[in-house]
Amino acid sequence: MISKRKKCAALQYSSVLATVALMLFSALPSSAQDKKKPRLVLQITVDQLRGDLPHRYYSEFGEGGFRYLYEKGVVYEAAFHRHANTETIVGHTTLSTGADPSIHGMVGNVWLDRETGKLVYNIQDSRYPLLTKNAGVDSEAEIDPTQRLATSEGRSPAPILVSTFSDELALSNAGKSKIFGISIKDRGAVSMAGHAGKAFWFSKKTGEFVTSTYYYKEYPSWVKAWNAKQIAFSYSRKSWELMHDRSAYLFGNRGDVPYETSFPGYGRVFPHPFGKSDSKYFTTLLTLSPVGDELALSFAEAVIEGEKLGQSGITDYLSISFSSTDYVGHLFGPSSLESEDNLLRLDRTLAELFKFVDQKVGLANTVIVVSADHGAAEIPGYLNEFGIDAKYFKPDALDPKTLERQPAIEALKKKLGIDKELIQSYFQPYVYLNHEVVQERGLNLAEVERTVAAELEKIDGIWLAAPSSALADGAFPNTPLEEAILRNYNSKRSGDIYVVFKPAWFINDSDGLSVASTHGSPWRYDQFVPVIFVRPGTTAQRVFREISTVDVAPTLSAILGITYPSGSVGKPLVEVLQTASEGTMSSKP
Ligand SMILES: [Zn+2]
Repeated sequence: MISKRKKCAALQYSSVLATVALMLFSALPSSAQDKKKPRLVLQITVDQLRGDLPHRYYSEFGEGGFRYLYEKGVVYEAAFHRHANTETIVGHTTLSTGADPSIHGMVGNVWLDRETGKLVYNIQDSRYPLLTKNAGVDSEAEIDPTQRLATSEGRSPAPILVSTFSDELALSNAGKSKIFGISIKDRGAVSMAGHAGKAFWFSKKTGEFVTSTYYYKEYPSWVKAWNAKQIAFSYSRKSWELMHDRSAYLFGNRGDVPYETSFPGYGRVFPHPFGKSDSKYFTTLLTLSPVGDELALSFAEAVIEGEKLGQSGITDYLSISFSSTDYVGHLFGPSSLESEDNLLRLDRTLAELFKFVDQKVGLANTVIVVSADHGAAEIPGYLNEFGIDAKYFKPDALDPKTLERQPAIEALKKKLGIDKELIQSYFQPYVYLNHEVVQERGLNLAEVERTVAAELEKIDGIWLAAPSSALADGAFPNTPLEEAILRNYNSKRSGDIYVVFKPAWFINDSDGLSVASTHGSPWRYDQFVPVIFVRPGTTAQRVFREISTVDVAPTLSAILGITYPSGSVGKPLVEVLQTASEGTMSSKP
């Protein structure tokens, strides 16, 4: 009797399943998914936009920019980068690949190439020079110390070790999708366009958007036309002025703060003059203001129009990385009148972008995702006003020659019979040991690293010095900090010891240029970023569950039903995937 009943129940169950399956199939004709495919994926990355900043200025925003995102989007209020070295290339590539830096290989803006013994810039590639002659880094005027370290003018995505979402999009349809990455910064463009897309970035030397021979043999006509307009030079003799009356700003009475950076000719207070178009820092000053983002927007509009993005019925991809928030943050800090005005202007830039996309593609056909490559630290002077410990760390303390003379390191060298230099280099965040010496003398690298790390931790301002061998062997304490450092560890590119400064302690002076604030730490303020998806048909909501930036690329893959990026470790964000009409999609066989 019992078995008969069971059989009967099983039969009933399977017939229910069949009915459900039938209902699902009839509810989802094969073309349904195609119809819902967006015409355009628009990925926006705001360099150095800490997660709280849009909230801080929300009441000051106009219509159609940040408000559009927060009103229409799925807003993740607890989104963090989970790697330690919160720098530009690291964060961008994490967003584009869904992988940690240990896997995607971008462990820092700069690392030491063990084969040549030289520091290298993340996306340098001597095989692919710039397509425009004399458009590379101007060593006289370049203020980005990482750019100045590049030993080649060529650029390509080859150093990115895994596929990006944009790569997978190209692979999904034999390259029919048009894929573009745009930014003022080369690394902000190349990282997002992936290996299969096209990247354009701003040359401070020529005032034009440029690319490398990796992408093109000749510029498309719309690029030539945009560059011919010489838009950057129309800002000659103009200034960055406040958009509103000073009294309207939260930081209105903090226009002149002594610890902000006074860049030569640009000053510490409004208005900030750009100078004449032939002056040395003219194009640099444009990038240190909201104009940088306006130029990126203008060029983005040119690519949408020139390439007819979103017009073919196949999903196209456009990434725009806005860099001004980062440069302004470095000079004046995230809590400054300049940063406030910059974000209000970015809000207008976004509103214009969304309006343009609506006209050309339709926002109803566009998936927008917004995030940031990293957050931001407050200026130590600002924190000190509130009684919080913060300080600029003197880089001399980590100079190899200084370290070499530390008593414990001298003693170690004596004990092991080392008469050559043991410390090869320090470049944030890693100390690099001289591996030749270690190998020559048959030393135990882990032991040497441990001794040097212990010595580093004695230096005031250093919170932690994590030996890489210990990470590789799994011999490290299971703390969030150490896990973030492990996610940053790539055996071929990472240095021997990861140095973490105390919260809000950082090196602000590299290669002669002093800035007021910087990022790059594994502390929360540098990891905290917005993640917002606006997907037509998805219910707008705020989500307070903690998510990570590695989840962004897998979510885009899941929306389109394509392969996840090869190294991705994140999980698709369910709130974005559940649309009103697709609620049952997950049950589809
Ligand atoms: Zn930065």
